[in-house]
Amino acid sequence: MILRVCIVFLIILSPILAFPQQKKIVFIILDGIPASELERVDTPNLDEIAEIGGYARAFTGGKKDGYSQTPTISAVGYNSLLTGTWANKHNVWGNGIEDPNYNFWTIFRFLKEARPDAKTAIFSTWQDNRTKLLGENLPETNSLKLDRSYDGLELDTLTYPHDEEHYYIRDIDEKVADEAANYLLSDGPDLSWVYLQFTDDMGHRFGKSPEMDEAIRLADAQVGKIWETVQYRQKEFGEDWLIWITTDHGRKEPEGKDHGGQSDAEREIWMISNAQNLNDRFHSGHAAMVDMVPSFLRFYNLVVTEERENELDGVSLIGPISIIDADIIRKGRGRILTWNSVDKSGKVKISWSPTDNFSKGGNDMYMLLEEVESVSDRFEIPRWISKKKFFKILIEGEKNTLNVWKTSSK
Ligand SMILES: [Zn+2]
Repeated sequence: MILRVCIVFLIILSPILAFPQQKKIVFIILDGIPASELERVDTPNLDEIAEIGGYARAFTGGKKDGYSQTPTISAVGYNSLLTGTWANKHNVWGNGIEDPNYNFWTIFRFLKEARPDAKTAIFSTWQDNRTKLLGENLPETNSLKLDRSYDGLELDTLTYPHDEEHYYIRDIDEKVADEAANYLLSDGPDLSWVYLQFTDDMGHRFGKSPEMDEAIRLADAQVGKIWETVQYRQKEFGEDWLIWITTDHGRKEPEGKDHGGQSDAEREIWMISNAQNLNDRFHSGHAAMVDMVPSFLRFYNLVVTEERENELDGVSLIGPISIIDADIIRKGRGRILTWNSVDKSGKVKISWSPTDNFSKGGNDMYMLLEEVESVSDRFEIPRWISKKKFFKILIEGEKNTLNVWKTSSK
């Protein structure tokens, strides 16, 4: 009898078990749009997406004046987004992308290693995003391959002569967005990155200006095409799509032209997503560029090894989290570990490692110091450890972990 009930139960459940709802992510970087400008200009498509999920200001640049301070430069920001780590780990410090540390995986690699059959795509106005940041076909990335790449148009100076006004970038963005929309519609890849550049060019040339406003409206329309295909696929194929739109840095006040430094305006970014369960950290306005990878991993329910998860600098902006904002502060000659507990009820485990082998492809042994009430929000690091020039601290909450370094210089 029990067996029969079980069989009936399985027959009823089997279509659900066999065909779980497919989860797809498309993330879009619109280069160098300050939050203040985005909020001022009419952007109906972005507004529509934000209406479903949310819009919030956020930050990039790592810990200001700290060990993870990260230049507010484009490729540096993309890689913080892609790897969920700041530049002290991913090691991209400028647009030259000289020596990326591929030991810190990109979201593309996380997905491909866990699900080799996952379909991935990039549509980009800058080819280096694929060849250098994602590191396609490199031995260091386990020869990561994308199923579809549409980029490099900026290298085709015959079709796109490089005019001084940079209208060729506007035209390339348009092609890139069209191609992304078409491919998403026909193939529905599991992970796609769309990168559009024209807004940054207008920012550099004109700063806050009608030209920048017009570029933002164009970018909004390009996002609109992609959003339309996402909605179509959700409706027709029952897929669960996460669309995430962000920018890579703000711009220096008051002109709104330059970036690269650590002023509040340059560090400020924004995020828009259709996710239904964005948490308080997202809405707080203090979410970080590095929070996107943990958010994407959670959306996919992707299993990541503890060693890799421990090294992520961000926390998920989707669903529940326990702790945020780890820091090591000076107290006399000692050091205090601080954090903020979102979940006041649980406990946290505090561990430390004297080594950073992970950055060199190895592993680090984290040794437990103590388990304390999460709500205590602080822990005095034993003096014999705090005297060391370098160590890493891992705080394990019930829903997420935090990782923070002490280095000799900071
Ligand atoms: Zn940029």
